[in-house]
Amino acid sequence: MARIVMKFGGTSVADIGRIRNVACHIKREVDAGHDVTVVVSAMAGTTNQLIAWTQEAAAVYDLREYDTVIASGEQITAGLLAIALQDIGINTRSWLGWQIPILTDNAHGSARITDIDGTTLIEGFKKGQVAVIAGFQGLAPDDRVATLGRGGSDTSAVAVAAAIKADRCDIYTDVDGVYTTDPRIEPKARRLSKVAFEEMLEMASLGAKVLQVRSVELAMVHKVRTFVRSSFAAPDAPGMEDSINPPGTLICDEEEIVEQQVVTGIAFAKDEAQISLRRLADKPGISAAIFDPLAEENINVDMIVQNISEHGAKTDMTFTVPSVDHDQAVKILEKNRKEIRYDVLQSESGLAKVSVIGIGMRSHAGVAATAFRALAEKGINIRAITTSEIKISILIDSAYTELAVRTLHAVYRLDKG
Ligand code: ASP
Ligand code: MG
Repeated sequence: MARIVMKFGGTSVADIGRIRNVACHIKREVDAGHDVTVVVSAMAGTTNQLIAWTQEAAAVYDLREYDTVIASGEQITAGLLAIALQDIGINTRSWLGWQIPILTDNAHGSARITDIDGTTLIEGFKKGQVAVIAGFQGLAPDDRVATLGRGGSDTSAVAVAAAIKADRCDIYTDVDGVYTTDPRIEPKARRLSKVAFEEMLEMASLGAKVLQVRSVELAMVHKVRTFVRSSFAAPDAPGMEDSINPPGTLICDEEEIVEQQVVTGIAFAKDEAQISLRRLADKPGISAAIFDPLAEENINVDMIVQNISEHGAKTDMTFTVPSVDHDQAVKILEKNRKEIRYDVLQSESGLAKVSVIGIGMRSHAGVAATAFRALAEKGINIRAITTSEIKISILIDSAYTELAVRTLHAVYRLDKG
């Protein structure tokens, strides 16, 4: 018998039929004797609709009222799912964030969870009761409802799992796991059976949008074994009842991954823009003069490459920003030209960042060289390269994204497993 958190995303609870289907997944785990806590998202499209109404009501609004409105989507699903579960004989009740309580900070609209008291939920297990918790919401210090930012119910689920020391947090979604790359680009992409927290963080932040990034950070800190699996697979499909190895991807501590691959996946992000500042003075304070004003305007800078100058002469600095921020970033840099003192600013949108990810590269030489050779053979020009211990990111022209992803996927034999 295990203690399991089961989280269901918007498409998994999109209508009453799907909610009944979710109830069957839950019944399977309850019947197997597990202690189960459920966390739900709003029905697909609901949160978008609620946000649109808020914006229609007034151009500028109080974020506390925004939270009151958009937290309601999860309340609906929690109640409906509890009704569907009762209908098939499961002892259950719904819970809103404040009732548990799930406490957050005061950052309405994108609050962080500060504490969850797991006692009530653990008491519930003793009575054989399944708690259905509205995700995405909590109670702020101002005694008002707060929401956790888009996609935040993943974070609710992981936080609840940590609070009740669950054996596993199952994230049921419309895909059946995490793949070596996007299967729409490389049909030979393979589902990973295990991926380390660090790797998943890189994949999530790079646009493999399975989980909210914050939920992966939280899972890593609290070592919550998080399992991505499909709610669209039939509840009684072969293997679904397996409590050790059901179909899906386990995101876990690297120690749990026995057969480690050097490279685990290829991620990519389109719509990047490159900005180069030429002939800057090579002296203290220049980087701060460039990046402070960008940070003040909340522009997310990613790859940063500075050349080492010859004998303290002039240097060049290149970095990337999301394409949508390109124009604003250029404007800011032009405004600060006096302080930064660059000679020329050159910029270009329509670029892509392709990344090779794997914790195995910490202990293997030649991983980067393999990527560069493979891209060269396809005639793909590399504009910039940045690396971390577990990632190599390469900036290229967007038109070559698909080719680059497939090439790298093949060269590291990711289709072979
Ligand atoms: N319903 C919220 C959203 O759409 C939270 C979630 O689904 O995780 O962002
Ligand atoms: Mg989601």
